Amino acid sequence: MLLDTPIESLPATSSVTIHRFKALGINTYFDLLNYFPFRYEDYSLITPIARIQEGEVMTVKGMIVQSKNEITKRGFRLQKITIQDESARLTLTWINQPYLVHVLKEGISIYVAGEVVRFAGKISIQPNEWELAKEETIHTNRIVPVYSEIRGLSSKTIREKVFHVISHLKNTAEPHDQMPGEVVKFNNIASLHEAYIGVHFPKSKALLAESRSRLSFDELLGLHLYSQMTRREWQLKKATHRLLLDKNKELLITKFIKELPFELTEDQKTSISEIKQDLIKTHPMNRFLQGDVGSGKTVVAAIAAYISFLCGFQTLIMAPTEILAMQHYETILKLFKSLPLKIAIQTGSKKSMKGKNDSFDIIIGTQALLTSSLAFQRVGLVVIDEQHRFGVAQRSLLKEKGKEPHLLTMTATPIPRTLALTLYGDLDLSTITQMPLGRLPIKTFLVPLVKRAAAYAWIEKKVNEEHIQVFIICPLIEESESETLQTVKAAKKEYEHLKNIVFKGLNVSLLHGKLKPKEKELIMKEFSVGKTDILVSTSVVEVGIDIPNATIMIIEGAERFGLAQLHQLRGRIGRGKLQSYCYLFSEIQDEGKLKRLHFFTGTNNGVKLAEYDLGQRGAGNIFGTKQHGYLKLKIASLSDMELMRQAKNAALYILEKYPHLYSISSMQKQIEEVKIANN
Ligand code: ADP
Ligand code: MG
Repeated sequence: MLLDTPIESLPATSSVTIHRFKALGINTYFDLLNYFPFRYEDYSLITPIARIQEGEVMTVKGMIVQSKNEITKRGFRLQKITIQDESARLTLTWINQPYLVHVLKEGISIYVAGEVVRFAGKISIQPNEWELAKEETIHTNRIVPVYSEIRGLSSKTIREKVFHVISHLKNTAEPHDQMPGEVVKFNNIASLHEAYIGVHFPKSKALLAESRSRLSFDELLGLHLYSQMTRREWQLKKATHRLLLDKNKELLITKFIKELPFELTEDQKTSISEIKQDLIKTHPMNRFLQGDVGSGKTVVAAIAAYISFLCGFQTLIMAPTEILAMQHYETILKLFKSLPLKIAIQTGSKKSMKGKNDSFDIIIGTQALLTSSLAFQRVGLVVIDEQHRFGVAQRSLLKEKGKEPHLLTMTATPIPRTLALTLYGDLDLSTITQMPLGRLPIKTFLVPLVKRAAAYAWIEKKVNEEHIQVFIICPLIEESESETLQTVKAAKKEYEHLKNIVFKGLNVSLLHGKLKPKEKELIMKEFSVGKTDILVSTSVVEVGIDIPNATIMIIEGAERFGLAQLHQLRGRIGRGKLQSYCYLFSEIQDEGKLKRLHFFTGTNNGVKLAEYDLGQRGAGNIFGTKQHGYLKLKIASLSDMELMRQAKNAALYILEKYPHLYSISSMQKQIEEVKIANN
């Protein structure tokens, strides 16, 4: 098999290059073909020299009529090569590549591609690529693949090596396509063989699109197959603890709900009944509860925990940070204050658990719950808040620790349904779309620079007269996995300015990611009890923080955030009965760029916002910078809803008709690679 050929067999390839390929995990020809271009240059159209136009990227073909080295006054060596076609002559200039004149000799025909520029009054092409004219070119005279250059491998080198493989691949039927013929036909997708050729060296734009589409289809199909298979496997498992509800317990649940300080929304009721149905089944629940910030997921989780308690089991509730764990702890304590549940908090800095672990009914903590040496014997339910911050590895660890408890994962990240089904196809989905009654929608405004002073003055007045509190979110200076020093520095500067000048008479504090957990906690505590009027913060401020008295938020540099992220930030206000206001500050003037922000001011629906951004800016924005690489898809785009839908249907069909065609273990590696970046 050609595609099994080890990379060492590439002709005319130095051992250094081979080594670099291997460092990228490319060991065979097949691996090489799976290193897809990230963009293409269209050098397929040959323009007569007389018709080249400044500012355009163009390709010309001509015969060399003069070739010489020149030395500038500053000592640079220039290579001046003049070519000619039927229409005109053109002089091309290279810098410091004196060997070129030995290759590009008079009488030889070449292709040259690049941007048309004017230099010292003369029009020419900046030679981005050049190539001797021959029947089949690699770098010019076609749609040319561009690969990301890493670890000393240039796009050009990769292109040459891929070209070598592709030119041999054409004489084979490889790679073997295991997709059933009727699936290929029904979805009208290209053959795998054609797709691998077309993704690297497409003959036309149409063929390129078809090729990418086929390979994307396969990638999405893999995700769906994997999650559907995992789902089936999960359903075969036996729950360690079966929860049995009798009439008496049902009555207690009803009573608990009736005595809540508020009426549950219909969506909350539906979610609870879905969870209840799951809990009494013989296989463990694996449910995903999605609900916008402030939609009231905590109480749903609390009721699930109550059911678990009534049946004699413990519940673990895990939050992504200590502050949130603390908040959950306080909320849960309040909810159960008149009931005999024993509730504990267990985080790095707070340990309320004394005595035997087994004597507690609800244990709240961070991921530390997993790694601690605590052994819980009676865990019937595990609740994970903001699940996408937990890695796959941690999730499976958890399953082992509590054996097979029921699992409820919750997120406020607005994920369009189709996307959720792709990412979490192995989970059952419950959604809360309604907001609790009596909640006034947040009013959002885009504030131009000239109105900033007026906005500050209005806010100061509101704080003084109504004693409400304010969040001021500082912009992201650099996108990165964790908060960069630069972002923190900018936040500090902004804080000094606000504290000493703008809001001189008010209590202002600063929160950022580089503070110690203890410091963060203190600052949050002071804000939540109303000691501070204004909290200046970077975007790290916890998603689920619940401070009903904070009703105003300013977001600086709003254009730097994805809409879904802005929405999560905004969700920290509007949590009580008071009217809340969100002000987007942006210094950009470009109406086109401001369009997104205008759209944002007009809707409070997280999923709509996520869909808008998904279409415009890709999936990275939904999960925010922290979740970059959350899904490292090789080629498919998560914004292609139609293809995702097709792939899902194909997966269901294949599992039904050809249950043994794909195995879960063979796909595991591929999928884990994709999802592992999730943390
Ligand atoms: P999230 O879904 O973002 O985790 P929370 O569970 O923190 O939301 O709930 C936000 C606030 O709404 C809390 O103060 C909670 O007590 C309150 N709440 C939850 N459900 C309702 C309801 N049905 N009616 C009124 N208030 C509610
Ligand atoms: Mg929450």
